[in-house]
Amino acid sequence: MGEFELINRYFRRERASEPGRPLELGIGDDCALLRPAPGTRLAVSSDMLVEGRHFLSTVDPARLGHKSLAVNLSDLAAVGARPLAFTLALALPRADEAWARGFSEGLFALADAHACVLAGGDTTQGPLNICITIFGELPGDARALLRSSARPGDDLYVSGAPGEARAALEVFRGTLALDAQAFAHARDRMERPTPRVQLGQALLGVAHAAIDVSDGLLGDLGHVLAASGVGASITLDTVREQLIASSPVLAGLPPDLALEFVLAGGDDYELVFTAAATQRDAVARAAMSAGVTVTRMGRIDAQQGLRLIEGDGRLLTRRFQSFDHFA
Ligand code: ADP
Ligand code: MG
Repeated sequence: MGEFELINRYFRRERASEPGRPLELGIGDDCALLRPAPGTRLAVSSDMLVEGRHFLSTVDPARLGHKSLAVNLSDLAAVGARPLAFTLALALPRADEAWARGFSEGLFALADAHACVLAGGDTTQGPLNICITIFGELPGDARALLRSSARPGDDLYVSGAPGEARAALEVFRGTLALDAQAFAHARDRMERPTPRVQLGQALLGVAHAAIDVSDGLLGDLGHVLAASGVGASITLDTVREQLIASSPVLAGLPPDLALEFVLAGGDDYELVFTAAATQRDAVARAAMSAGVTVTRMGRIDAQQGLRLIEGDGRLLTRRFQSFDHFA
C-alpha cells in the first residue's frame, strides 16, 4: 500500500465544505482552507510524539491515536479555546495497515467527540513520529487564559487527578507494583488522557492564568509563576486529603511517593489555573458544567518562589524534579 492509498483509506473522511464545518477545503489540495467564525482569533499549537520518548513501542495504536490528539487538545484547553481542526504529520517505518486503522480509529473517536476535524497533513517514511498542529477558536472579546495572567491573591487550582499517569509509567518501568484494578485505572490515565477542553472554555472570563500539566505540576506551575512574576503557596494537607486520599491509584502508595507523583509526575493533561477569590462559585459552576472536579490547592503570592506548606505551617523543603527532555 502506498502513501496516498494509506491517507485516502484511513485519514481522508471529511467532505470538504459541509455546511457549518470550519473547513472550507480539507485533505486533497496543497493547503486546507480554514474558516474561523468572524471576529474570533485562531489559537494554534503543535505537539510531537516520538517513539521511546513519549510512548512505548508496545502501545496499542488506537490509544496512541487518542493520546496524540489529546495532548494537543489539552493545549487549546489551557488557553480556553474551542477546537476547530488539526493537521497530522506522520513518519511511519512502513505502510502498516493494521497500525493505521487502529491509530485513525483512536484519533477520530476523540476528534469527533470534540468536533475537531482533520484538515491535512504529511506522510513520510521514517522512525515512528507523530506531529499534530491544532487550531482552535477564541471569542474576539475573551481574555485568553495566559501563563502571564496570574495575580497575587488568586486562588490556585488543579483539575482532575494529577499523579495517576505517572504511577502507570513506573509500573511499566518495573519500579512499582499496583493491583490489577489500580493499574488498569492508572494505565488509562497514562494512555488515554482526558483533555480538559470544556473546563478551559468554561473558565474564560472566570480564571486569570492557566497551563496544562505535561511535565509535572510544580514545574508547569513554575512557568506560570515566572511569566506572571509572582509566587505561590501550596497547602499540602489539601493535596493529601483531596488529591491523594480520593485516588484509587495514589491512596495505596507510600505517602512520599504519592506526593511526588501528584506534584511532579507528568503526563497528566490536567489544568492548573488561578482565579480571584471572588470567583469561587463561578469556578465551581465551570467545573460542574465541564463534569470534572477541581481542587483549590493553594494561593498566588506577591512574594516570588514556591512554598509547600505543612498543616503546622512549616515549609516542606524537599525538591521535586519535573520532566525535562534535555536534562
Ligand atoms: P504535498 O506534496 O503538497 O506535501 P501530499 O502529497 O503530501 O502534498 O499530501 C496530499 C494531501 O494529503 C494534502 O492535502 C495533505 O494535507 C494530505 N495528507 C498527507 N498526509 C496526511 C496525513 N497523515 N493526514 C491527513 N492528511 C494528509
Ligand atoms: Mg507532503
